[in-house]
Amino acid sequence: MNPNLIDYAQNPMLVYWETTRACALSCRHCRASAQPTPHPDELSHSEALRLLDQIAAFGQPSPHLVLTGGDPLERPRLFDLIAYAQSLGIKVSITPAATSKVTKEMLQKLKDAGIDSVAFSLDGSTADRHDSIRQVPGCYDQTIQCARWAGEVGLPLQINTLVSRETKPDLRAIYQLLHGFPLMRWSLFFLISIGRGAELSEMDPDQGEELMNWVYDLAQVSPFQIKTTEAPSYRRVASERMKHDGLTPEQIRQTSVHRGFGIRDGNGIVFVSHQGDVYPSGFLPLRAGNVRIQNLTSIYRDSLVFQNVRDIEHFEGKCGECEYRKICGGSRARAYAHTGNPGASDPFCNYTPKTRILVGSA
Ligand code: SF4
Repeated sequence: MNPNLIDYAQNPMLVYWETTRACALSCRHCRASAQPTPHPDELSHSEALRLLDQIAAFGQPSPHLVLTGGDPLERPRLFDLIAYAQSLGIKVSITPAATSKVTKEMLQKLKDAGIDSVAFSLDGSTADRHDSIRQVPGCYDQTIQCARWAGEVGLPLQINTLVSRETKPDLRAIYQLLHGFPLMRWSLFFLISIGRGAELSEMDPDQGEELMNWVYDLAQVSPFQIKTTEAPSYRRVASERMKHDGLTPEQIRQTSVHRGFGIRDGNGIVFVSHQGDVYPSGFLPLRAGNVRIQNLTSIYRDSLVFQNVRDIEHFEGKCGECEYRKICGGSRARAYAHTGNPGASDPFCNYTPKTRILVGSA
């Protein structure tokens, strides 16, 4: 999907649907605090079909649907849901848990069903590191096997990696390891301390700045795409580096639009929980409505929760003054996790907006 064509106040680019909270794993930093069995009140099959109708009702450009969990492979009648989404013209990706349910045959079946891409989580470059972060013995070997099979069946592969104090020293080694796979994208998720994630530690802003500069350098040479999640200030770092590298303002603007700078929680992103509750993202627990009794389109477009997290005029502190607030805007989820105010400044960013420097020097 071309981000140039999307008005994020009207249409999300990505709909994340937590198909179920059931999952055989119990990872230490699971956002969903997944459980071995489904919640008795998760959306029924007919409600799930209605949700897909509601996603289609956004019209063109149609959002991309990401099936998450828990483990979406635990969702009853998953392939019927995928087929129905396809019939509505919705593109679908999936993020299965690396369990014994993932076999080469299962990945082939997902590919044959028209799944766009598959993502697995890899948080360490060795079995010891990965399994100790996730606290699931054997998970590393299974993840590596799943990634290999995805390559063998030709299913575009994304690897998601947690960025925290605990994983930072290992990120270079993970990057090297990933060269052995036919990877489409490496997605770096910057920890927000909510759910089970509160057991791990966010990096401090200076460490984050150093890491983002490293990511920018890697992105120039990497054979696969590198994406950041819940680190929108990377866009400010990238813009400054592009300026330093001699790109014109118009070239920087075009690159920013092309890479989807400006997408953030509630602005291009919407999350639907296993019970149909709607949030600006899976990491921002501000409930804006429920698809059982409201339309997803109207919740996304018209609810106060979404309007406020989308509106840069509602941002406060540094993020409210910053010249990068339109393409960055800070992580609303992290601001909320740290202060209880989704409009507050993103505490992960150490940038001083130009207005503050000018006021300070007046
Ligand atoms: S101050 Fe806020 S808007 Fe500006 S770069 Fe930092 S996080 Fe982004």
